[in-house]
Amino acid sequence: MKLYYICDCCREIYHNEDVEGPEGAAEVRGLCPDCQSELGQEAAPALSSMRPFYH
Ligand SMILES: [Zn+2]
Repeated sequence: MKLYYICDCCREIYHNEDVEGPEGAAEVRGLCPDCQSELGQEAAPALSSMRPFYH
């Protein structure tokens, strides 16, 4: 089945993945990287490694 990660803030599908299970799709509520960074960097420490920061 397919998992769709839907942002609770902007309603965009920001990620999807295939998992084992019956045919179909399921929604996973969450926050996309954009909204996470807008709401606060400390909420998503793992993302900081994906985007280098230049001070
Ligand atoms: Zn969002």
